[in-house]
Amino acid sequence: MAYIKLNKSNFFNNLDIIAKQTKAVDKIALVLKDNAYGHGLLEVAQMASEYGIAEAVVRSEEEARAISKLFRRILILADLPKRAEANFVYTINDLECIAKMPRGVSVELKVDSGMHRNGVSASEIEKAFELIDDADLDLVGVFTHHRCADELSSEWFWQEKNFSLAVEKARRLSRSKLRFHSSNSAALFRHSDFNGDLARVGIAAYGCLEMPEALKVSGLKPVLSLWASKNSSRHLLSGSRVGYGGEGEVSSNKGEVVSNYDFGYADGFFRSNAKSEFRSACGAKLVGRISMDNSSFETDDEEICVFDDASKVAKNAKSISYEILTALKPHLKRVVV
Ligand SMILES: *Cc1c(COP(=O)(O)O)cnc(C)c1O
Repeated sequence: MAYIKLNKSNFFNNLDIIAKQTKAVDKIALVLKDNAYGHGLLEVAQMASEYGIAEAVVRSEEEARAISKLFRRILILADLPKRAEANFVYTINDLECIAKMPRGVSVELKVDSGMHRNGVSASEIEKAFELIDDADLDLVGVFTHHRCADELSSEWFWQEKNFSLAVEKARRLSRSKLRFHSSNSAALFRHSDFNGDLARVGIAAYGCLEMPEALKVSGLKPVLSLWASKNSSRHLLSGSRVGYGGEGEVSSNKGEVVSNYDFGYADGFFRSNAKSEFRSACGAKLVGRISMDNSSFETDDEEICVFDDASKVAKNAKSISYEILTALKPHLKRVVV
C-alpha cells in the first residue's frame, strides 16, 4: 500500500524558524484543520505537543475532540458547539452566530478587515460585544484573516491597519483581557517585529509556504512525502504504450523497464498532478496516466518516493501545495520518521 512519511526533524526545524519569528513557542497556534493539511491529525498533533506547542486551530468540533487532551486551547474556526469541552473556543463568524452559541462557551470574535469572507465588519463590533455579553458567552479574543499576505501588494498593510483599529475598539469595549491575532503563515513572516499575541500557522509548519521571491522565507523544509511499492515489473520494447488510453509510450530504442506502483487518484494523487511530464522525487519518469491505484514509472526500484515536496507537484499541476496535500486520503498510513 502507498503510504505517507512524516519527517519529524523537518517539522521541528520549521517550528524552530516559526518560533524565532513569533519570539516564543507559546505564541504559535498550529493549524491542524483538514487532517493537518493531509499530514494526519493525530500524528502531527502528537509531534507538535512534544515540541511544546499548546495552541491549536481546527475547522470542526470533531477535530478538536480528537486532539483535545494534547493542547491547552483549541480554536474552532467554523462549527457550533454540540459537546463543548473546557479548552474549546468557537469562532463568531457573523452577528447571527452569536445567538446559536449556548451560554458559557468560550468564543473569539472574527473581524472582517477586508477579506469579506467571514467576520463582523468594523461598524458591527460594538453590537457584537453587546450581543456576546447578553448571550453570556466568554469572549477570549478577537482575530482577523488576510487575503493577500502571500502576494507582493500593499493590501496586507491595509488589512493590518483595519485590524489595529478594530483592536483599539475592542480594547475600549472589553472588561477583560483579550488576545488579538491576525497572522497566518505568510502574514507572520511579513512582520519585521512580530508583536501579536498569537500566530495561526499552517503551511509554513508543513514546509510548503510559497511566497514571491522578495518575501521568501528560507530554511523551511517539507514534512510530507508520498511513497509507493512496486506491484510488478516488465521490460517493454520501444513503441509500447502503457496504461489506459495507451498514452505513455516507451521511446528509448533499446526499450525500457517499466514498473507499476500501488498508488493513484484513489489515494488523492490526481491525474491533473501529472498533466505535463511528471517524475518521482528520485527522477523516475511516469509512463502513461495516473490510474486509480496503479501508476507506472520507468524504473524497477522496489519502492518509489512519488513526491517529497508538494510545492513542486503544485507547480506542475498549476495548483497550490495546500490542495495537493489536503487531497491525500485519510486511509494512507502515516509513518513518522
Ligand atoms: C487556514 C487558516 C490559517 C492558516 O493559514 P496558513 O496559510 O496555512 O498559515 C490561519 N487562519 C485562518 C483563519 C485559516 O482559515
